[in-house]
Amino acid sequence: MVKMEVARTISAVRNLVKAARSEGKKIGFVPTMGALHIGHISLIEAAVQQTDFVVVSIFVNPTQFEPGGDFKKYPRPFGKDLEICRKKGVDVVFAPTPQEMYPMENLAWVNVEKLTEPLCGQFRPRHFLGVTTVCAKLFNIVLPDIAFFGRKDAQQAIVIKRMVADLNMPLEIAVCPTIREQDGLAVSSRNQYLTCKQRKDATLIYKSLQKCQTMIESGVTETQEIMAQMRKILNQIPSGKIEYVSIVDAETLENIDQVEDKVLPAVSVRIGSARLIDNILVDAST
Ligand code: AMP
Repeated sequence: MVKMEVARTISAVRNLVKAARSEGKKIGFVPTMGALHIGHISLIEAAVQQTDFVVVSIFVNPTQFEPGGDFKKYPRPFGKDLEICRKKGVDVVFAPTPQEMYPMENLAWVNVEKLTEPLCGQFRPRHFLGVTTVCAKLFNIVLPDIAFFGRKDAQQAIVIKRMVADLNMPLEIAVCPTIREQDGLAVSSRNQYLTCKQRKDATLIYKSLQKCQTMIESGVTETQEIMAQMRKILNQIPSGKIEYVSIVDAETLENIDQVEDKVLPAVSVRIGSARLIDNILVDAST
């Protein structure tokens, strides 16, 4: 097996990618904030399968956290992350410092309009600005052929796809399925903030989405009626605070009154100090 490199600087990762490309290799890229779990691993596996040279970035991006958010306490098990990447056949881990990524006050921001306003955008006003900007920077640094994202963060994947399309960025965005625990909870680095009891209660998040799916499958089309049932389930979480329960068009992310075609039921709930989001795709036309 080829030795995995750890690049701490932009020039180091650029040189490694340049060498790989000169050998005709297709470059795959998986951007992460570390604390790697089976969700991230599924993206790495897809990248290893579909490309010849895989770069994983591990960067807890300060510009996408709200003031008073969990930036400081976000888990950073770097040694363990490197071990996972090594085992999975990653070629380069790019792990820059905030200083390397933002050496000066950042004045250039990439804003995707409309798609960033609903769902998480209502509660984290500058979050997507941070995400799109850091992804644009990372794409410019790594120059991948394909970048891999998880459907777990569906709005993020849709926003990034639109940024790439509107700005003619020369890469493809691959969106991979949400990986869940056995009891249905979407795997997330933030699940470790939960106590045992909260972790059990958190299974109600996926249950509310499953309820939505069964209602749609049984012919209910009024989104208000469906969302009321979803809220009922989520209200059973004693320490839970619902941020949103929405059923939106799966492409435009606009609210809809009646379910037709592809819809994205999505929820965000605060449980204790964790903010957990989840969604599913439902195609009512099939
Ligand atoms: P993060 O480290 O949380 O920024 O996530 C990095 C990438 O992993 C994003 O594209 C996420 O959507 C993806 N991801 C996180 N959790 C999961 C999951 N449970 N299943 C699939 N992808 C995930």
